[in-house]
Amino acid sequence: MVGGIAALLIWMNPQLAAVTLLAVPLMWVLTRWFMRAVEPRYAAQRESVGDLNTRLENSLGGIELVKTSGTEAFETERVSVASYDYFRKTMAMLRLNYVYRPGMELLAGLSFAATFLVGGWWLATDEAPLILSGDLTTGTFVTFLLLSQRFVTPLAEVSNIVDQYENAKASSERVFGLVSIPAHISDREDARPLGDPSGHVEYDGASFAYEEEPVIDGVTLSVPPGETAALVGPTGAGKSTLCKLLLRLYDVDSGAIRIDGQGVREVTIDSLREQVGYVSQGSYLFDGTARENLAYGAFEATDEELAEAARAAEAHEFIEKLPEGYDTRVGERGVKLSGGQRQRLALARAMLGEFAIVVLDEATSAVDTETEAAIQRSLARLTEDRTTFVIAHRLSTVREADRVFVIEGGQVTERGTHEELLEASGLYASLWNAQTNEIEVGAR
Ligand code: ADP
Repeated sequence: MVGGIAALLIWMNPQLAAVTLLAVPLMWVLTRWFMRAVEPRYAAQRESVGDLNTRLENSLGGIELVKTSGTEAFETERVSVASYDYFRKTMAMLRLNYVYRPGMELLAGLSFAATFLVGGWWLATDEAPLILSGDLTTGTFVTFLLLSQRFVTPLAEVSNIVDQYENAKASSERVFGLVSIPAHISDREDARPLGDPSGHVEYDGASFAYEEEPVIDGVTLSVPPGETAALVGPTGAGKSTLCKLLLRLYDVDSGAIRIDGQGVREVTIDSLREQVGYVSQGSYLFDGTARENLAYGAFEATDEELAEAARAAEAHEFIEKLPEGYDTRVGERGVKLSGGQRQRLALARAMLGEFAIVVLDEATSAVDTETEAAIQRSLARLTEDRTTFVIAHRLSTVREADRVFVIEGGQVTERGTHEELLEASGLYASLWNAQTNEIEVGAR
């Protein structure tokens, strides 16, 4: 429309058309200015709304801690600060809009007014005003008035599009910025599937650092298929990290980890994680039904298979007792279940997978003795004929393990069976004695 009308106006009277079209370069300059000025402000606004959302999610996600610590006022203040920042950034962006959009309208109006005044003068005095020359007929003038309005209105609307464009650009830059972060852990070009391993796990001089400090420092150990290895040691010694390396949540910096002689970095990640089950301390549950959480990752499992796994994990009984059984929603992160129930659900989930190897980060949370016994039984079933790494806190687990590795400062400092280590009277023996004493004192 704009192009057609401009051509028509120029064809009818190029001189008056120049007056009408004078607004176009001015609009262009204004738009360029706006685009340049608003871009960083939109980017700042998007970032600010991201911060606000993170803040809110944190406050709501940690609602229990907030309530129990009585820090509502503190959280309110923090949300207010983030909220006010968002308000300020939005206002900064809007202030430009308040100049730009009316500016475009104004230029459109001026273009029409100029056409009207110059053309009107020209027609009334029958003399070309200013530097113009030639004739103007009434018909041409009326056509100009009608058309010039149709010409500038869509041009003024360009401001809408430009504004939306800048907004979308700022948003998409954030999205694509996230998408384009390269994944550090990915399949090698020549990665092959792990196949069906018997579960022989070897660490061969494995070292790893999250940052500068080595967290795992030349660990060499071997666990034959079907055996249970307990990892014990002080907090922060690197036990969890050692297990995460097996799952390739991180890659070793040097050395190797092998399953049945195949390096974990040489096999496809999918096939590796199909064979290694991981039950962490803070078993994560999604907002959904018990069934959905149970079948997570084993989506094709039938109801019977689910129930069987749940029975093996001693979870079937309590799930049945929920108001809607397997179809009960467990709430966000499983808030409607007790700690022990959440754990048994996670164990049942691990049982559904046909893992050759399982990694258990045993919970230290104080579950009641009945639940503890139930978890113990389900653990025993899960680990029966699978190679198991267990970050052990319970004495019973450690004692029953086929081998125990004491981890200190990222190194294996003691290894052997429970009895052997007790005899060696090292750190393990003193840890054990301290714990058994505690229990005796508690029992008294
Ligand atoms: P453990 O399981 O024996 O308690 P971890 O393996 O969790 O120990 O942690 C070992 C060390 O690595 C700790 O000093 C911890 O602070 C550090 N660490 C753990 N996870 C990370 C991480 N994601 N980024 C940086 N450092 C980490």
